[in-house]
Amino acid sequence: MIRVTVWNEFWHETRHEAVKAVYPEGIHAVIADALRKEPDLEVRTATLDEPEHGLTDDVLESTDVLTWWGHMAHDQVSDEIVKKVQHRVLCGMGLLVLHSGHFAKIFRTLMGTRCSLKWREAGEKERLWNVEPGHPITQGIGEYFELPAVEMYGERFDIPHPDETLFISWFEGGEVFRSGCTWRRGHGKIFYFRPGHETFPIYYDANVQRVLVNAVRWAAPVCIVPYPGAPNWAPLEPIQEKLNPYGKAGVVQDIE
Ligand code: ZN
Repeated sequence: MIRVTVWNEFWHETRHEAVKAVYPEGIHAVIADALRKEPDLEVRTATLDEPEHGLTDDVLESTDVLTWWGHMAHDQVSDEIVKKVQHRVLCGMGLLVLHSGHFAKIFRTLMGTRCSLKWREAGEKERLWNVEPGHPITQGIGEYFELPAVEMYGERFDIPHPDETLFISWFEGGEVFRSGCTWRRGHGKIFYFRPGHETFPIYYDANVQRVLVNAVRWAAPVCIVPYPGAPNWAPLEPIQEKLNPYGKAGVVQDIE
């Protein structure tokens, strides 16, 4: 079983009637329902206003893949939790960052860049071109798929060069965007997927749900690789002493 935690800020849906009309139980509920249809996925949800944002040590330690949606309250996410999520990713947890999550603290921390982009909220059509049809995340998706009414995101998207670019979006207004990108950080796999504005029913779309399911399976860790918990300044004994006659050596670790 792949243990998935679907995280949502869950502020728009509780504050704006137009958003509540699209996602009455929250964006996280729709994403979780889609993932729960898959027999190999064990799914729970977590939201910003829960204690520790629902991301306690127990939850993080039993999460293989975390999905992240946030928009209006990125600055309300505590730095301490961001650090814990980052640590878990570096140890191997998969992370799916969705839509406006491009500005989430955790994504910017892991990318090291501003992650800024252009945008326009005009309900225009988007065509997502599948440019890596051999990749696990694009299985079941044709040459392209379309979303009839979306918020546009345009280049330049200020991200480090992706390991893989899986989708390139074209918008009715003329812009293009790298809509599906992967990176590795430490032992963890990260996938950014663009679709998902809160006033459009994007997460009900069958192709979007297919990509999310595929991405969860792709991002699941082969194993979690623990990082040493204490600093270790002890000299390292050589494995073959005769080949190391030159004096002191050591392992340098930071205090994380
Ligand atoms: Zn949006």
